[in-house]
Amino acid sequence: MVETQPIVFFNGELKPENEVGIPIRDRGFIYGDAVFDATRTFNGRPFRMKEHLDRLYNSLLYLRIDPGMSKEEMERWSMEVVNHNYSLLPPNQDMWVMQRISRGVETIEPGEEQRPTVLIESHPIPFAKRASLYRDGLRIITPSIPRVPPRFMSPRAKTHNYLNLILGDLEAQGTDPDAWAVLLDEDGNLTEGKGSNIFLVKDGVVATPKGQFVLEGITRGVVLDLANGLGLPAEERDLDQFDAYTADEAFLTSTSLCICPISTFNGAAIGQGSLPGPVTQQLISAFSDVAGMDYVEQYLSHLA
Ligand code: PLP
Repeated sequence: MVETQPIVFFNGELKPENEVGIPIRDRGFIYGDAVFDATRTFNGRPFRMKEHLDRLYNSLLYLRIDPGMSKEEMERWSMEVVNHNYSLLPPNQDMWVMQRISRGVETIEPGEEQRPTVLIESHPIPFAKRASLYRDGLRIITPSIPRVPPRFMSPRAKTHNYLNLILGDLEAQGTDPDAWAVLLDEDGNLTEGKGSNIFLVKDGVVATPKGQFVLEGITRGVVLDLANGLGLPAEERDLDQFDAYTADEAFLTSTSLCICPISTFNGAAIGQGSLPGPVTQQLISAFSDVAGMDYVEQYLSHLA
């Protein structure tokens, strides 16, 4: 396909991005009745796409949506989108490739078949906007709004309903416009942010909230494996605000951020020493090795 602009896969075919519109009665739009996942590229190569697609298909099972397509087909079409769109990016850029599947357009007539809407799109990672985070660290605020409890809606599915996390961000950013929210659960334990998992390091032990209470980030899984490989004790356990205020180091993980150090928690400095701290730095280096590039350097190169 010869296209000089980004393409997407939409309901069975590849099309120029600006020729695709979502129908006004699509249930993903009117109810958030959809799931998605996002894989990032490093030098144009998707990282852990299989794990992301496994999670996507679990999210689909949770919402009982049939995408009408196997994981292998989803991967093949995703690669078509990546390979075409990466070639259009400026140098030193990378992107997310996102699969979005809604239950489809709301049916009206009795017996009308509900068909899913399947979209695969890509999006450049905002390196310039985030570059300073790798120099200065993330400022975390815990908003008063709690994370929706798992028994109401499982955080383990990655759905189009982000309002709880968005409200958390809005509240945090009302205090500090550059802060990132990490929501607490109803018992006061740390959960996650809008698009990221949190880790604390204390006395050499790396800890993160249990998988049952958060989206089990693919990056979170990689970091737990890396910690294991480096001989660092790693735990999935309840962590509260005391653990955060007394941590030696802390960081967020996400597909696009990879591992990004935290400088303050509700305004209080985390740890005493340099940023990133030694354990976080060890994990960042190990992560760069598996990603096949120095991703921190890539972010920092976008500093104004
Ligand atoms: N938590 C939430 C709510 C997310 O949306 C994400 C992003 O996907 C994460 C955590 C981090 O997961 P991952 O490392 O797979 O990007």
